[in-house]
This record gives sequence, structure tokens and C-alpha cells, in this order.
Amino acid sequence: MDIAAAKAALAHLELDENPTSIRAKSRDFFWYSPVLKARLDHVTADFVISPRSEAEVIEVLRVCHAHGVPVTVRGAGTGNYGQAMPLAGGCVLHMKNMVAIKAIAPGRVICEPGIVIRDLDAATRAHSGQELRMCPSTAATATIGGFIAGGSGGVGSVRWGALRDLGNIIRLRVVTMEAAPSVLEFTGEELHRVSHAYGTNGIITEVEMPLAPAYDWLGVFVTLPDFAAAAQFGADLARQDGILVKLVTVCEAPVADAYFQRFKGRVTAADHVVILMVAPHAMDGFLTFAARYPEAQVIYRSDAHDWPRDPGVAYEYGWNHTTLRALKVEPSITYLQVRYAGPDFLAKIAAVRARFGPELMQHLEVMREGGQVIYAGLTLVRFTTEDRLEEIVRIHEDLGCMIFNPHRYTLEEGGRQSVDDRQLAFKREADPQGLLNPGKMIAWDVPDWAYQGIYAYAGLRAAE
Ligand code: FAD
Repeated sequence: MDIAAAKAALAHLELDENPTSIRAKSRDFFWYSPVLKARLDHVTADFVISPRSEAEVIEVLRVCHAHGVPVTVRGAGTGNYGQAMPLAGGCVLHMKNMVAIKAIAPGRVICEPGIVIRDLDAATRAHSGQELRMCPSTAATATIGGFIAGGSGGVGSVRWGALRDLGNIIRLRVVTMEAAPSVLEFTGEELHRVSHAYGTNGIITEVEMPLAPAYDWLGVFVTLPDFAAAAQFGADLARQDGILVKLVTVCEAPVADAYFQRFKGRVTAADHVVILMVAPHAMDGFLTFAARYPEAQVIYRSDAHDWPRDPGVAYEYGWNHTTLRALKVEPSITYLQVRYAGPDFLAKIAAVRARFGPELMQHLEVMREGGQVIYAGLTLVRFTTEDRLEEIVRIHEDLGCMIFNPHRYTLEEGGRQSVDDRQLAFKREADPQGLLNPGKMIAWDVPDWAYQGIYAYAGLRAAE
């Protein structure tokens, strides 16, 4: 790795050599995990480059390839699994300047990857009353490229499913890491090569995403005195195909009372809360539905309320914002990502809940999967030790619940604990020297890894 030669060859681009900002651009939200915090806190790149065009991306990759310099691409660095952390140092390729919107048409938008999702939504809304089908709860800061390469779904998944479900990405344009980088366009099955691949096998330089009609979504909060009833309420609502909702979040008591500051005085420690985004024209249908659940109390709707302090947008109480709010109040809190699927998903949630006491607090998000309603759990965990966390993971798995482990920095361990052959095969073509975001794809480093215990990337730079 010849850092000095690479920097000299790229000095005419937007090159950041300031150690403080290099360190800042080398970090993401890995620290949500005490396990990753202990291992990755010291990680830093050698320099940061912010390309202004695809041509500059190609130049950076060509030069870094020639000098054996690793390249880790960064959107906004809001990922949770250490996805954007340059484990072996080298170059952070910051996409902040690649924000152009190239075309908006009925049902689709074409843009560069570095645009912040909220800005993209504002533009499609102003252009023709359209918005992205789904976004992470970090829409205000995260980029569309980072969402495609690192995210999985979020606000809108109750209607549209997961980001990688067919039709939720239309086309991606990708630059490879070779002596002479190629530019490739992927659609259909080929999208899986690079979507949710953490930038380990190509840099996305253009995206084409489907759009849906935009609404002035109403935030609605509902309390129920019983958690099982709250989970049932959320699942039943999501199955009401005529009632358009964009978010169904269920938080076990006392999450809202303990961690949502602006809910103070509006909920008690015994209230389980369902947080919703409802289309304005669906409010009548929703209120009719809610009236069938005598214990459900609508305590807030964003278009008519008397709360002294506006609680803000509903989606910033859902997905991983729930975790963020909890750990701001109680720093020992971390989380797990659980998939509760199958016809008995509510029974699985009940079994998990029965197995643990206050060590775990349930936080559920409705998702659509293959036409069915399922719950994703972003369970809040009061962390004690790594061993106990491992035990909690095993207990979930024994109860038939799949865990996507957010305390790991590799694609495989954060996913289904198996190799994605399409991603691996494409990495062999597109990054033959293994320079893109090294350490994140176990199958590249240790093909026969047995998934027992945390994978420790041998190339992880030691702390100084
Ligand atoms: P980064 O963190 O910068 O990057 C993510 C990954 O993508 C990295 O591996 C990076 O190398 C790669 N990458 C970035 N740009 C490119 C590119 N152009 N080409 C190739 N690879 C690239 N995630 C969800 O899916 N749903 C949620 O609802 C959600 N809620 C969150 C809430 C909070 C409070 C936090 C902290 C995180 C949440 N996340 C969620 C995770 C994260 O915010 C999202 O996945 C987000 O979309 C990542 O975008 P980013 O621009 O910050 O990407």
C-alpha cells in the first residue's frame, strides 16, 4: 500500500488530509454496539476523497488500485454495523458531492448516490407529487446510495416490503476496482450483486428507484394496556388493505414513557404504544378500525393535538430511532434485529417475551413479506456482557427467530450467516485485489469460516 503515491496522484481532486475530519469520516454508528465499540473505536482511514463525478470515481479507483490502497465508500455514515468503517485504513471515498437528480418521471427517479434521501423526496414531491416507496428513519441525513448498499428497509416497508424485494430498486450503475475500472449497469437478478453489499464489490454511481404517490402523512400515536393486544392491533391494521399506512411501530411499555421525552405526561409506564403514519384520506378508515378495539386510545394525531411540545415526525420514533432515543437516556442499552415470520409470528414474540424479563424490551416494526404481514424486531437490550448477549441471541434462535446480528461488522454475520454467492462471484470480477471495503466479506477472506464466534478480520489495523 503506497498511500503517499496515491495521494500525490489524486491531489487535484477534493482531498481531505485533516486528521480530525479523516477520523470523523471514518466512523459510522457502529458504537450502538458495545461489542463493535470495543473493537473498532480506533479505526481510521489515511485520507478522504470526495469525487464530483463518475469520472473522478473512476480516477480514484484506478489510482488506488495501482498503489494497492483500500477504498471504503461512505454515504453519510449512519450505518450501524461498522459498514462504512475503513478497517484496513486507506481511502474513504465520500459521496457527498454526487447529488445530482438526472430525471424524474411517473413512478421513477434517476439520481446520483450521494443525495440525502430527504432532499431527494423533496425534489420528487415538488416535481410531481411523488416520493420514494421506503426510506430509513435516518432519511434526514442518510444518502440513497448508502441505503441501497447498507440498508434493508424501513418507513414504507409495511406496504412495499424489504428494499431488496423485486421491484424496489430498478437499476444501479456501478464502477469496478480494476487497473482500468469498468462501468456496469445492473437490473433484475443482477441487482443482488451489489445491493446490500456494503460497497465491497463496486461503487454505485447512479441509481434508478421506483416512486409512489406522496402524501402529507399524519403521525398517530395509540396506547394499549396490553402488549399482545398492541402487537395484534398493529398486525391487524397492516392487513387492512384499504387503509394506507406507511409506518406501524409497536413499543412495549415502558419504552415511550421512559425514553420518548415529548411523550412525558401523555403516557404512563404501563402504556404500550403503537406509532403510525396514516395517509390523510385513510384517517376515517383508520379511526373506524381503531374503534373496533375498545382498549385502543388515540392519544395524538399530528393534524389536531394539544401537546405542548410538538413530538416531531412519527418515523423518528420508529426503526433504529427507537434505539437511539433509548440509549440517549440509558447508555447501557443496545439492540438486536429479529425476524418474526411465519403464521405463528405473534406466538414467537410472546414466547420470547415470556423468556426474558426487563432485560429486553420489545420494539416491533411491521413489514410486508411475500404478501404476508410479519414483524421485524429491533429489540432493546440492557447490555451486561458479550457472553450474555451471545446467550440472548442463541435463545432467540432456539425459539425459532432469526437474528441479523448488529454486533458484527461482516455481511454474512449481519445477515443470514451464509455466503451470498452472487456478491462473492461479482467481487472476484470487480475487485480482484480485494481492495474495496476490506474485512466485510468473510467468504472472500476465509471461505470455510464456520460462523462460530465473532469473525476477527486479520487485516484490521491495530490501535496505536
Ligand atoms: P453509510 O453508512 O455511509 O454506508 C452504508 C454502507 O453502504 C457502507 O458499507 C458503505 O460503504 C456503502 N455505500 C455507501 N455509499 C455507497 C455507494 N455509492 N456505492 C457502494 N456502496 C456504498 N437502516 C435501514 O435500512 N432502515 C432504517 O429504518 C434505519 N434506521 C436507522 C436509524 C438510526 C438512528 C440509525 C443510526 C441507523 C438506521 N439505519 C437504518 C441504518 C442507516 O441509517 C441506513 O441504512 C442508511 O440508509 C445508510 O445510509 P448512509 O448514507 O448513512 O450510508
